[in-house]
Amino acid sequence: MRYSVTPLASLPLNGLASTVPHSPTMAGAAVACAHSDPIDLTVGEPSAAPPWEVREAAAKAALEDRARYGPAAGLPALRGLVAQDLSRRDGIPRHSEQVLITPGGKAALLDGLRCLLDPGDEVLVCSPYWPSFPDQVRWAGGVPILVPHGEDLLPSVAALDQALTPRTRAILLNQPANPTGTLWDDARLAGLGALSRRRDFWILVDQVYGTLTFDGPEQPFLRHLPHLAARTLLVESFSKRFAMTGYRLGAAVGPAALIQAMTRLASSSVTHACTLSQHAGIAALSLDGTWEREQLEELCAKRDLAFEGLHTLPGLRVQRPQGGLYLFPNASRWMRHHGVETDHDLVLRLRDEAGVKLLPGSAFGASGHFRISLGAPHGALATAIRRLGRFFSKGGAHV
Ligand code: PLP
Repeated sequence: MRYSVTPLASLPLNGLASTVPHSPTMAGAAVACAHSDPIDLTVGEPSAAPPWEVREAAAKAALEDRARYGPAAGLPALRGLVAQDLSRRDGIPRHSEQVLITPGGKAALLDGLRCLLDPGDEVLVCSPYWPSFPDQVRWAGGVPILVPHGEDLLPSVAALDQALTPRTRAILLNQPANPTGTLWDDARLAGLGALSRRRDFWILVDQVYGTLTFDGPEQPFLRHLPHLAARTLLVESFSKRFAMTGYRLGAAVGPAALIQAMTRLASSSVTHACTLSQHAGIAALSLDGTWEREQLEELCAKRDLAFEGLHTLPGLRVQRPQGGLYLFPNASRWMRHHGVETDHDLVLRLRDEAGVKLLPGSAFGASGHFRISLGAPHGALATAIRRLGRFFSKGGAHV
């Protein structure tokens, strides 16, 4: 008997796989460039190497053959350290059962969404947003509802309230935020607390940049709203905090029942986070804090350098980031004056004429902006800011 077989290429993928795009923040760096010596400020990755102890711990675990299968929820020692570290930071007592070790913060968030959403459930995502937020909601079968921002690049409580519907299952926030560097102020947090008294929804807080807070102590979400702990899932990561991007190590921290469900999901999907990376994570959380303090000082200096270099340029509006790894200038006035229609066109010109690779604001739901990563080394960033200064000053007196 003969079968007719459809050529593989024409068999359809499902609706999600055919429509959800590649992460734009991951794709940006690969693009070719007309400038002979471009500086890449697209990637949200600290240029420093991870602490020596971290690298040593991973290497030692490999050499000693301690990279076997382990528990789906992560190595008990690491879960304990994450619980302890976070409790020290936000003042909420917690134990290991509330912690799942994941292959990065991204996985923690996606698996949280997969355990919380039924098909068609809505999740409020505040604009400007990290592009993976709406995409992850879609991958988990939900519907991202984009909440508009005000002048300060944050949503008002009224806008959040307006976006709530009977299908709202969760609100997703990012403290400090990628790409804006904003932190929710006390009034907004209190407003969210008030909304949560009226309506049942989960709160997903991505605090992968939490320890990178510039002008004062870290502002962990539950320190402000401890009574929301039972409905909050926190996403933590070693990527930005310890420059361990490629180790793919993060954690989900939340109510034990949710963590158990996420652990069951991990046991059928990734099995667990890489064991070598988990040993490295134990070393990272056993450090005395000096490395982190020095890195934060360096990052703060880079924030100042970039902000000072850009905020007086004609046609740009730049908000001083309170934390995180980025600046997010608004160039709409400059674009209007110079006949540049889209921020995509703008970043192409910045790439080819100024030699600085950046990501367009529209990738983050805020057209007319561009994102600068502060991850580059100080010298490269200084050169890039000088180049941007020259570019935007051309004819700028009229703007
Ligand atoms: N969350 C936000 C807001 C990010 O910007 C990023 C990376 O850029 C991540 C999560 C991903 O972190 P990880 O490397 O731990 O997956």
